[in-house]
Amino acid sequence: MTPEKLFHELLGLGLSWEVVESRFEASNGTVYLEIKETAQLWELTRCPEDGGLVFCYDHTERLTWRHLNVFQHRCEITCQLPRGKCRQCGHVFRVRPPWEGLSTHFSKEFEAYALLLMREMPMAKVAEITGEHDQRLWRMLFKHVEGAYAQADFSNVCCVGVDEMNRRKGQNYLSVFADLLQKRVLFATEGTGSETWEAFVQALAQHNGHAHALTQVSMDMSRAYQKGVRVHCRNAEVVFDKYHVISQAIKRVEQVRQAEVRQGGQGIWDALGRSQWLWRKNPDKLRPEEQERLAKIQHKNLATAKAHQMRLVLQDIYCSANVAVARRRLRVWCRWVRWVAKHQTGIFRPMTKLADMIEDHLAGILAYWKWGLTNAFMEGLNSVFSAVKRKARGYRNSVYMITMLYFVAGKLRLPHM
Ligand SMILES: [Zn+2]
Repeated sequence: MTPEKLFHELLGLGLSWEVVESRFEASNGTVYLEIKETAQLWELTRCPEDGGLVFCYDHTERLTWRHLNVFQHRCEITCQLPRGKCRQCGHVFRVRPPWEGLSTHFSKEFEAYALLLMREMPMAKVAEITGEHDQRLWRMLFKHVEGAYAQADFSNVCCVGVDEMNRRKGQNYLSVFADLLQKRVLFATEGTGSETWEAFVQALAQHNGHAHALTQVSMDMSRAYQKGVRVHCRNAEVVFDKYHVISQAIKRVEQVRQAEVRQGGQGIWDALGRSQWLWRKNPDKLRPEEQERLAKIQHKNLATAKAHQMRLVLQDIYCSANVAVARRRLRVWCRWVRWVAKHQTGIFRPMTKLADMIEDHLAGILAYWKWGLTNAFMEGLNSVFSAVKRKARGYRNSVYMITMLYFVAGKLRLPHM
């Protein structure tokens, strides 16, 4: 068997194409496979417009497709692609070769391999390993994701989480919508206003879903998202995400700490200076030396320590066995916070604000016990953003982000040919 015949078999070219030359150029370490069409091609090809018989009109210049390496050597398929002309309508078209992927620079097999790498590592690393320019790889990924996303089916979506993401400086916020039952990203768009809901509802409809089929929506307490649900999803019950409630409490504790530091006084700075991380973390996540420092501070009867205690009690309420217990404990908690605040000089103002917020959103907070829903799945998506480090070139940054989100978390069928 000649090398050409061997490569013909390995590429699965069939009767319409043949490898006319295979050669290795040591100077650039590349294996070239020159392919040409056979007469058979014209018997099997039909006009894409009307299915008419075609003949060979002319050939393109020599084109190149990156293929899988041959041993450790780069391999490229080259071909002067034939263009066909229809005998019926005169339409002239480029014949699409069977090895070509969605991008005109890569073979299908190379694309599948590169997509596999992209699931495991940042694009810059994929570019390094394959020796391809990352923009070319991105464009290929865009095509695959776009094609597969168009086919995605949202018809059974009923339980949605929405979250704002991408909090790094200088970048736009994204609203990300996810199916919390199937744990997949459904839709992402720039902005965090109620208009993002309008866009999401449209995307649902384009993929056989319906806004009125949504029965639960898990989210933070932003007004814009609440408005979006009210306007577009009349059957959906709002569930305020547990982690957002707790992170609000952590934020309020930090405000108390800052106020207390500003007030100053004997030993306050020593106790509270640079201590924000002590109050932020869950107590069981603290390192031994952090625990020691916290224990010392807690002796001093500071407002910050009290506020921290309030947060821990609130967090503990989330362990309540049922909604009745949770409701009672939340009420007691709010009363307690206000009672403590009343006997102080206003330093607990952030905590009473939190109590107000909890009472204003009580139904949605308690809905957690009814449905057990959180946006925990979406928190994990933040790591996706670290994979998209490079600055936008030619595209807006959000396009890269959204594509990567759909790719790694959209449960799409890829590679999509
Ligand atoms: Zn035709």
